[in-house]
Amino acid sequence: MWKQLRRSLALKLILASAIPSAVALVAGLWALIAHTRRIAAVDPARAFGELRDGAVLGTLLALTFAGIAIALAARHFLIKPIQSLKRVMARAELGEFLVRARVQSEDELGQLARSFNTMLSRITDQAVHDIETHEQLQLQEELQAVNARLAGHVGEMELLLEVAKAISSTLDLPEQLDVLGKQMCARFGVVEFSVMLLDEASHQLIIEAIAGDAEPSVRGMRFHLGEGIAGEAAARGETIYVPDVEREKRFVQQKGQRRISGSLLSVPLRSKGRILGVMNVIRSHRNAFSDQEIRLAEAIAAQAALSIANARLYQQTLELSFTDSLTGVPNRRHLFLRLEQEHSRSVRFGEPLSLLMVDLDNFKNVNDRHGHLVGDGVLRGVALTLRRNVRKIDLVARYGGEEFVVLLPRVAKPEAIEVAEKLRRTVAATVLPGPGNAPVTLTISVGVAALGPDAEDIPGLLEKADAALYEAKRQGRDRVATAAPAARASA
Ligand code: GH3
Ligand code: MG
Ligand code: MG
Repeated sequence: MWKQLRRSLALKLILASAIPSAVALVAGLWALIAHTRRIAAVDPARAFGELRDGAVLGTLLALTFAGIAIALAARHFLIKPIQSLKRVMARAELGEFLVRARVQSEDELGQLARSFNTMLSRITDQAVHDIETHEQLQLQEELQAVNARLAGHVGEMELLLEVAKAISSTLDLPEQLDVLGKQMCARFGVVEFSVMLLDEASHQLIIEAIAGDAEPSVRGMRFHLGEGIAGEAAARGETIYVPDVEREKRFVQQKGQRRISGSLLSVPLRSKGRILGVMNVIRSHRNAFSDQEIRLAEAIAAQAALSIANARLYQQTLELSFTDSLTGVPNRRHLFLRLEQEHSRSVRFGEPLSLLMVDLDNFKNVNDRHGHLVGDGVLRGVALTLRRNVRKIDLVARYGGEEFVVLLPRVAKPEAIEVAEKLRRTVAATVLPGPGNAPVTLTISVGVAALGPDAEDIPGLLEKADAALYEAKRQGRDRVATAAPAARASA
């Protein structure tokens, strides 16, 4: 019964208004009856009138009392909870989903408030879920972007590594540049590639390598520092990016070359602060290089410059180890390498190959008379004279102390004798640097031998030339002798 009362609003209202009304009614009736009885004992006739008036007044009072009780009950049980709920609903309506209605009872209004609270907590749960989902989505998007960036960087690193590996796999400069060009076209997506290297002597840029659609005829072309985009990139030591070459005045249409369009990137090749040249890459469309790609091209150029510097260093070391330090001409090691090459070439193509063995006459006297230092200068002078009087493809090498070998590829024996004669005459006529300003002259003896008529292999050729030289000495020096006594030539 009590439980039912707590749960039912109507019951509460009825009881809250009915109980005080009933009490008041009973009290009123009791007072009226007692009053009427007292009157009736004195004046029965008046008692009825009093009873009637009392009843009317009592009814009016009871009704007023009941009304007040109903109003108070309604205010307490109905109006106040409804107002409280209404305030909460208004706040929720404005989006404040964290407010909660006060549950003041277990009746219908209390349940309404509870249901409303449940609804609000569902809404907040949903909102939290939505926020979490949104955050997750955002996080996922950020992760994807980071992943894409990372993948891009990994790709760049791979390309850089691959290029670095490829170019450093050889110490041959032309091969290096060739590999670089192929890699740039295949992996960096350029249609044209060229490398210009700075020629220290002329201060000019020379196109040393090309790849892609670049015209082979441009190879070897020279540009001044500051000329065109590449010249400017080299002069300033800065990368120059031309997003649209057709709109670029500085772009020098290379002599006799077809017009090109698209974007051009000129990246200086710098090693240890020195500009070695420029790498140029072209893509056929405009605005083709992103900032990231420009940075990558610069990283590749840095690698390339390092390899180029290494190749040059190697080349220099190689030259030093194959060069005689006193005279500056190739040494014995170099001579034997070339001998191998020229011998196999001669055998393969059936071309003649001749060799001159040169020895300075009475050189000991020069040393004895003027000292070793003067002797060294004279040796240098003779080496220079020999070198200046042969073709580019011939090789003058220091064979021993004051002995030189002159290798004459594609020269048959009769011509070789003529060359030997010319050299003998030229040396004899050359004034060599002596002590102070005193001139020194000397003569040479030359032994001539040719592959085929005199020998079949290199040791044989050297031996025959040496024997011929001995013969020249024996005959009195300052003369040319050949391996075969019959074909002897004389001074
Ligand atoms: P010939 O060949 O005409 O018979 O007489 P030669 O006086 O030239 O005799 P030989 O070839 O035997 O002597 C070689 C001399 O060359 C001996 C050596 O002191 C000198 N010589 C060898 N190498 C050098 C060098 O690097 N510098 C100098 N200054 N002298 C050298
Ligand atoms: Mg000698
Ligand atoms: Mg000698």
